[in-house]
Amino acid sequence: MAEKIKAIVLKSSDKKEKDLSVLLFSLEKGKIWVTLRGVKGANAKMKLAQNQFCFGEFVLEDGKSGKIVTSFECLESFHEIAENIDQYFEASAVLEVVDKLKFSSETERAQVFMLVLRALKAICFENLKNVYALDKFFISLFEILGVPLYGDKCSSCGTKAFERIFVDYSSGGLVCMACKSFSSEEMPKSAYIALKILSNTNFDKLSSVKLAKDSEVLLLKILVKNFETRFDERLKLMGILS
Ligand SMILES: [Zn+2]
Repeated sequence: MAEKIKAIVLKSSDKKEKDLSVLLFSLEKGKIWVTLRGVKGANAKMKLAQNQFCFGEFVLEDGKSGKIVTSFECLESFHEIAENIDQYFEASAVLEVVDKLKFSSETERAQVFMLVLRALKAICFENLKNVYALDKFFISLFEILGVPLYGDKCSSCGTKAFERIFVDYSSGGLVCMACKSFSSEEMPKSAYIALKILSNTNFDKLSSVKLAKDSEVLLLKILVKNFETRFDERLKLMGILS
């Protein structure tokens, strides 16, 4: 039976000579490998479906070894990302994160799906620093997954008297000097301010934000480390950060 899903292409891998396996992140079914048949000889419309970042409507049918795409309509190709090295790093990082995630509910998955689309749009089309969009992506992701990093008080004792702020990587929250543990690291003030501003700004207003120089990168390193610790994963692409 044919079914229609809305999905983003995460990555592809060669299958047979003319076929291609593509990993989709879909609103309806989460992550799913599908086959694009004879994609080299296929019409141009279908060819778009093999490109990373491409967002569209896929019609799937059951094949002998899994789902086969029988029809595809591109809703947004995001092809600018592949052509623009300044956007490629941040956008690829978003997809790499999704590739690593496991979802605990359909609601959570749908929220992450919308977040990924929103982040890609910001990176691709909006006039803002792409690292801001990637920071915002991580911050929102932690909120959706129920482990928000930002808070205006110590996540352990509740004090608001933050003279020095520490990220506690074991709990994924911010703690005060008195509550810090061996798994806590001090967060530079500029990174905390960047975290606070980005937490309180939605994507639509991101282009009007201006953070202190380099604070967005300091923050990104903390967000990545928090992600890697929370989900026990390494983000390959982020290697160029360190
Ligand atoms: Zn405390």
